[in-house]
This record gives sequence, C-alpha cells and structure tokens, in this order.
Amino acid sequence: MRSVSIIGGGVIGCLSAYHLAKAGWQVTVLDRGRVGGGCSHGNCGYVCPSHVLPLAAPGAIWNTLKTLFARNSPLKVRPGFALANLGWFLHFAKRCNTADMLSAAVGIQALLNSSRKLFDELLEAERFDVEWDTHGLLFVFQSKAAFEHYAHTDHLLRERFAMPARRLEAADLYTLEPALKPGSASGGYLYQSDAQLRPDRLMTALHARLREMGVKFVENVEVSGFTPADGTAKAVVTTAGDFAADAFVVATGAWAPKLNAQLGMNLPIIPGKGYSITIPRPAVCPTYPMIFEEHRVAVSPFRTGFRIGSTMEFAGYDEAMNRDRLKLLTDAAAVYLTDPGDPTKGAEEWWGWRPMTGNPLTLIGRSPRLSNVLVAAGHGMLGLSMATGTGKLVAELLGGGPTHIPAEPYRLR
Ligand SMILES: Cc1cc2nc3c(=O)[nH]c(=O)nc-3n(C[C@H](O)[C@H](O)[C@H](O)COP(=O)(O)OP(=O)(O)OC[C@H]3O[C@@H](n4cnc5c(N)ncnc54)[C@H](O)[C@@H]3O)c2cc1C
Repeated sequence: MRSVSIIGGGVIGCLSAYHLAKAGWQVTVLDRGRVGGGCSHGNCGYVCPSHVLPLAAPGAIWNTLKTLFARNSPLKVRPGFALANLGWFLHFAKRCNTADMLSAAVGIQALLNSSRKLFDELLEAERFDVEWDTHGLLFVFQSKAAFEHYAHTDHLLRERFAMPARRLEAADLYTLEPALKPGSASGGYLYQSDAQLRPDRLMTALHARLREMGVKFVENVEVSGFTPADGTAKAVVTTAGDFAADAFVVATGAWAPKLNAQLGMNLPIIPGKGYSITIPRPAVCPTYPMIFEEHRVAVSPFRTGFRIGSTMEFAGYDEAMNRDRLKLLTDAAAVYLTDPGDPTKGAEEWWGWRPMTGNPLTLIGRSPRLSNVLVAAGHGMLGLSMATGTGKLVAELLGGGPTHIPAEPYRLR
C-alpha cells in the first residue's frame, strides 16, 4: 500500500486525505496545531460557485486605493508589510486586466463547479450533519448605483460563464428576505447555485470519519522541511522526529510559503486576515446567507447560530484579535437587518488567515525540486468552496491517472 503524509489538517488537507484514502493510500495528516483549527474553522461557510471572477479585475486597484483611505474600511494594509511584500502586490496589480481576469475565471470556475457537485456527493454518501443549506446566496446592494452597476457583472457571468442569478428589485428582495430592514437596500441578486454549511461542524465530522477510514492524525507537530533523496523527499522533518512516506502533500494554507526554500520555489501566498463573530440566532433571523456588497460583510444563518464575517487585513502573521474589526462586522449587520442579534451574548470571536495568492489561481502541483511533493494551497477567499474538487485533484495527480478537470491552470510555475 502506498503511503502519503499530508502537512496541514485544514479543509484542503482533510479533503485530500478523504480522496486519497478512498483511492487506497495509507494516509497520515500532520498539523502544527489542532485539526480544523486554522482558517477552515470560523469562515462564513459559503460553497459558492457564483464567485467565478477573481479579485484581480479591472478597476480593483483604484477601488482598493479608495477604500484604503476610507474610515472603517473593510480592507486594511499595513504599510511596512506592503513594502516587504511589494512583489506580491505588483504581481496582483499586473493581473488586474480583462484578459487575465477572464482566463483565471476559467480555472476558478472549473474547481468551484466540480467542488459544488462533489459536496452534494460527499454529504449524500457520508450523511454528515453540517447544516447543509442549498437555498442560494443573496448579494444585497445598499445603493441604486451599485445595484445597477452589478448588472454588467451579472451579464458577464450569465453570458460567458453560464452562471445566472435572479435579479430582485427592492420590493421583491424584502418579500424574499423579511429579515432585511425596510429601506436598507436598493436590490439584490440571488445565486441559487450556491450553498452554505457550518464549517466547524464539517471539520469535526471529517476528522471523525477519516479516523474511521484508518487515516492517522498527528497534532501539535510542526513540519520544518523534508529529507531529500535523488530529487524526491524520503520523509518530513518535524518537531516530533521524521515521518517517512512515499508521497507528501503540502496543505498548509497561509503558512505554505514558510516551506519555500525546501520546495525550491517562491509560492506567491500571503496571509489575508479575516474575522468572524458567531452569536445565537437573532429572533428575526435571516433565511438566506447574504453578502452586503458595499460593506463587504457576509452573514451566515446557521441552524445552531448566526455568523457575521469578513474584512481583509494584510498585516503579516499577526495573531492579535482586533476588536475594532469585529465591530465593523456587527455595525454593518445593523445597517441591513431589523434584528442583527446581540454580540454580547455567547459570542465566539474568531480570526483566520486566508491563503491569498497574487496569481490569482489556487496552486495545485508538484514541487520543482521534490517530485513526490504536491502543493495544494493558496485558495484565498474560496478554500471551502474549492475543497472537494481540490482533494479529488490531489488524489488523481498523486495516483498518476486522468484528472476530472484539467490540472494545468493550477500548476506551480
Ligand atoms: C472571515 C473569513 C470568511 C471566509 N468565508 C469563506 C466562505 O464562506 N467560503 C469559502 O469557500 N471560503 C471562505 N474563507 C476562506 C477559507 O476559510 C480558506 O480559504 C480555507 O479555510 C483554507 O483552507 P486550508 O486548508 O488551505 O487552510 P487552513 O484551514 O488554515 O489549514 C492549514 C493547516 O495547516 C497547518 N500548518 C501550517 N503550517 C504547518 C506546518 N509547518 N506543519 C504542520 N502543520 C502546519 C495549520 O495549523 C492549519 O491547521 C473565509 C475566510 C475568512 C478568514
């Protein structure tokens, strides 16, 4: 039986473990902390094929600059960090044109669509209770101008990517989602393709199922490198000794560049810090997950709670809990919702580092230095939405067989 060690027990590592175990590999997952304790814990839980277009799009730089200087901006860049990572920001800026946006969107969509379908299959096969909800995702616009402007994006997604949405004028929007405060929105778009689950419950369910399937987990061990042998790796070097295997998967999310020197490459990934706050369901709880577009804030009505999440902070590997960022979330929810809930009641306050690529595609491919080491990282704002497809692709690439979607767009360059 071939053996594989997966470094990183987030949603990408665990779903890679799932597909590899199904394909007959003997799997070990190593994590520097707790399985599911990274960015995969407190995210908004959207599985959203609607998010076809990358962040690197025409106008993104100008919009970013505008929000940077705005008070209470959801986006924050620490100047020292930007200077130290100038290459990443320039790389991102270079991609903000129509041709690169459309070409990246093809790769993004393939992984999103495959993952959406695979989530249905996974949840049907495993019967995980993860509060799976296939209602769809509502994009809510406060101003008429932003609502009308989105019509161009809707047209592009519909015509070029076969991703239709239902346009809702204000009156229809309030009828569909009565939890919205009257007068708070000018209109919305409903993506019925999208779904939602409770990510922490997914991680708990996966962890338990993988153990049943014979996957071994080693927590609280940090991988610092590989023992090389003839262009391959024999073992990973960890704080608890070496772990030998036939193949390795680097699924360390935002931490992935820390292994750059060992992998023989420069992974264009930086941490993009986001926050969420989870409270008991308000008395008038939304039925739909919603993104309040101008505020860039998302709400997730789970069966067992209510999460408000978002914001993006480029400040390096900063572990501080910034309460001002949490307040931005609850303040934004109060703009749109009749009953935004009480953040002082049993709240779980959380932050996580999104693995942001300047690329703008997720990276799934072999290390140029160690041919039996596969990297699966850089899923940015869509790691949950792309996790099942990534896991399947990882298993196919390591198995050497055909892949269910073309692997070329994600190859490491
Ligand atoms: C506020 C917020 C909301 C979001 N909402 C959504 C959403 O609605 N939908 C969506 O699709 N995505 C969303 N995301 C993004 C999503 O959460 C991430 O893309 C995804 O969780 C990344 O998964 P991962 O497995 O790559 O990383 P992680 O979950 O961070 O896992 C990486 C793991 O690697 C381990 N590790 C790191 N280095 C080492 C090492 N050297 N040795 C051993 N272990 C190591 C870490 O401990 C960690 O457990 C959101 C993110 C944020 C912050």
